[in-house]
Amino acid sequence: MFTAGYAALNGLNTVLFDSLAEVGGQPEFLYPFKEIVNIPVYQQIIAADLIKRLHTSIPSTVSLELKHPVKQVTKVDSHFLIDQTCQARSIIIATGAGSFKPKQFPLPMSAEMTAKVHYYVRNIKPFANQTIGIFGGGDSALDWAKGLSQVSTVRLIHRREHFRGLESTLATLQSQENVEILTPYLPHSITWQNKQLHIGLKRLGDQTIIYRDFDQIIVAYGFRANNRLVGNWGVNSNATNVFVDRTMATNVEGIYAVGDVTTYPGRVPLIGVGFGEAQTAIHAIMRQLFPDKNPNLQSL
Ligand SMILES: Cc1cc2nc3c(=O)[nH]c(=O)nc-3n(C[C@H](O)[C@H](O)[C@H](O)COP(=O)(O)OP(=O)(O)OC[C@H]3O[C@@H](n4cnc5c(N)ncnc54)[C@H](O)[C@@H]3O)c2cc1C
Repeated sequence: MFTAGYAALNGLNTVLFDSLAEVGGQPEFLYPFKEIVNIPVYQQIIAADLIKRLHTSIPSTVSLELKHPVKQVTKVDSHFLIDQTCQARSIIIATGAGSFKPKQFPLPMSAEMTAKVHYYVRNIKPFANQTIGIFGGGDSALDWAKGLSQVSTVRLIHRREHFRGLESTLATLQSQENVEILTPYLPHSITWQNKQLHIGLKRLGDQTIIYRDFDQIIVAYGFRANNRLVGNWGVNSNATNVFVDRTMATNVEGIYAVGDVTTYPGRVPLIGVGFGEAQTAIHAIMRQLFPDKNPNLQSL
């Protein structure tokens, strides 16, 4: 989003593709409730708020192509053809960890049950004043449990005794009366009873099965991400990352890469680093497209 906005600020006609129905990448889908403390200017900012601000700061001249996983990039004369639908002089790959899909809840469910099973939370309101189950043991599960415990009764179910997420968040949850923590349990059966999900939970290591009812559940088993599509576009890459030079250029003239998809010695996978890379790439594109123009960086 920042890259697209910065391109538009430089007067470039810009199209932003995302494979998901919503923009926001990892902060929006993996850790929306996290308090981020390493973004310049903000002492702290909730991940979802950062995404909201980035989204609203995209100029209206940027076209958003959502639910569009870019599959094919071909060079035609001096242009690139993206999935046969869009022509571009330059391309910036910002696919992060790749296009991701949530790991699914492992039990067969009817349509009415499936409607109550979620893989991420973008807005707490539809979950208020209910009993919510959260399955998983990482940061997302703990963050969602913490966020939803402000408005609902929460049951947190994890297959291991120990959680992988932040200990201070776990300690907060353990101190709350409206939070039940169940470990080590795995979902074993699911039925639809009295408009609720009636889920059997099997204790690991013995045959004990307990039952709990939920209005809705959130499955935080993580996401499978893949950047394999990028490998088809002719750029030098390893299994997950694209190699770039100091101007963020790939080996293919006109194709750049920024953010977590890139690799070079010393790169750290942080949001702020990606912002800087975006500016470097856009200025490299400006130099390439308009070699006679001397950009007045200060007036941007
Ligand atoms: C749990 C967790 C906590 C974190 N906390 C912090 C933190 O506190 N501070 C910090 O600075 N960083 C943090 N990070 C790292 C930070 O989230 C990443 O560095 C950042 O999201 C990278 O941004 P990106 O735009 O490169 O990639 P992403 O955020 O991964 O976004 C990539 C986007 O590209 C889309 N996409 C992928 N493939 C395609 C395709 N073929 N076609 C179209 N669209 C595609 C995806 O749908 C996605 O929207 C954290 C990461 C995790 C997992």
